[in-house]
Amino acid sequence: MSRRKVALITGSTSGIGLGIAKEFASNGYDIGLNGLDNAQDIQEIEHGIKEDFGVQVFSSGADMSKPREIERFAGDAGDALGEVDVLINNAGVQHVSPVEHFPIDKWDLILAVNLSSAFHMSRLLIPSMRNQGFGRIINIASAHGLVASVNKSAYVAAKHGLIGFTKTIALEVAESGITCNAICPGWVETPLVKTQVETLSREKSISQTEVIRNLILERQPTRKFVQVNEIAALALFLASEQASSITGSSYSVDGGWTAH
Ligand code: NAD
Repeated sequence: MSRRKVALITGSTSGIGLGIAKEFASNGYDIGLNGLDNAQDIQEIEHGIKEDFGVQVFSSGADMSKPREIERFAGDAGDALGEVDVLINNAGVQHVSPVEHFPIDKWDLILAVNLSSAFHMSRLLIPSMRNQGFGRIINIASAHGLVASVNKSAYVAAKHGLIGFTKTIALEVAESGITCNAICPGWVETPLVKTQVETLSREKSISQTEVIRNLILERQPTRKFVQVNEIAALALFLASEQASSITGSSYSVDGGWTAH
């Protein structure tokens, strides 16, 4: 019997990453789960996925802003689950501020989590993917990897960087059975966005419903949030054998945002 495939997903205890972890688990993948939550919360998510889908799950609270912890996650997950077939670089954080007031520690954190962690995870896992002649690297970028918004200098820089990184890796591994692609979501209703809605509602003294309609979804012609399961379904396809000729590409799932 062939072994089950293994998918590692950074930042997978919430939002898009958790949705992707469940989609892959429901399709028989063993899962490497990661997030910055406390140990008990991560273990609860781990047990939930094991129970619901009957797959193996390895979980880790490794901080994706710290190269040593990233090395530990990649190593321990490989020991626990076996060779990694799919790497999904999803962990991401946001901070909104005009550039001249942008806190230096927030700039460094956003670049480390949203961009450098993809470099570290990729450099650590590509050797074993090359050995097995198969690998899928999927970077969760953003519409902000393709276009900019005011006050998001670090996030936009990191996500544009992630798309450049995606193309470079695709070229480097092109003959090894490994593909590397990016998904660029528009607004997806997750805790990351909820925080921004709450802040804008406070700052502008308008209701959260008005924030969502007039400020958040103003960019998104469908005027609807993208759903987590839509992102997860595309990731699953990009991980499949049928997607072996798709590499170096960025896929917008943004309700028409970047068609403007
Ligand atoms: P979320 O806040 O719901 O989840 C973020 C996850 O990353 C959590 O599991 C959190 O624990 C983890 N995380 C944060 N910092 C970490 C760190 N230092 N180390 C390890 N894990 C860390 O966010 P989300 O909306 O699901 O976003 C996931 C990805 O999708 C991010 O890269 C984000 O930029 C991208 N994205 C989100 C949207 C959106 O509208 N929600 C749109 C475009 C792109």
